[in-house]
Amino acid sequence: MSKKTKAATPGTFRKIFDFFDAPIMSVDCGKHCMPLNDGVPVCCDTGNAIPVMQKAEWKHLRTRSKMWGKFTPYDENSQEIVDELSDSCKAVECKGFKKCERDNRSLACRTFPFFPYFTKDGELLGLSYYWHFEDTCWVISNMKKVDQRFIDQFLEAYEILFADDDEELEVFQDYSASQRRVFSRRKQDIPVINRKGKVLLIRPKGKGVKKGSLKDLPKFAPFDE
Ligand code: SF4
Ligand code: SF4
Repeated sequence: MSKKTKAATPGTFRKIFDFFDAPIMSVDCGKHCMPLNDGVPVCCDTGNAIPVMQKAEWKHLRTRSKMWGKFTPYDENSQEIVDELSDSCKAVECKGFKKCERDNRSLACRTFPFFPYFTKDGELLGLSYYWHFEDTCWVISNMKKVDQRFIDQFLEAYEILFADDDEELEVFQDYSASQRRVFSRRKQDIPVINRKGKVLLIRPKGKGVKKGSLKDLPKFAPFDE
């Protein structure tokens, strides 16, 4: 008999949002990306990133706010993204950054631009970043400023989610494997911030993990000043 898969419930997200309030860093990162994106933070612009949440997360957030609504695709590409979502997920849209309710942000809003990085052996090693945003998200070029409190809450939040949800665990394990393939092709190390806030570098082509330092953290144009 096949093993029953676990799925998060609205209660899973309630538990997470009860404590996860740490900003990524003590500076307002949005002021660095907004001027290059018509005055809108890149991660709050559905033209750059369509917010996706689990239906369980949607159900929970709808009990606390009217900020979120269903996302309406605006072109073929955005329609395709919506069509390809798994049954447990939903594309959503908030009322815009000027009306953002900090306490009612989604998990993706609270964690962007980071995702939980897993080794090939399935160990949750720390935080890595969504590399498609290297040239638009200022935080990726300033990872040394990430606060320990954010790291602690980020990892605690995902550990709660993974304990309740098998699909989410698989998604991020697969995403970490994709990052290894992309960075191996680029012949670049993947920088990971571990639980203690230390830098680890995942060597390309399966050549292991080595300790790094803050100076090994990458910078990308136009944030490489
Ligand atoms: S996380 Fe990145 S994209 Fe979002 S506001 Fe900060 S710098 Fe901009
Ligand atoms: S909820 Fe706030 S942080 Fe999230 S996309 Fe909307 S404006 Fe941005």
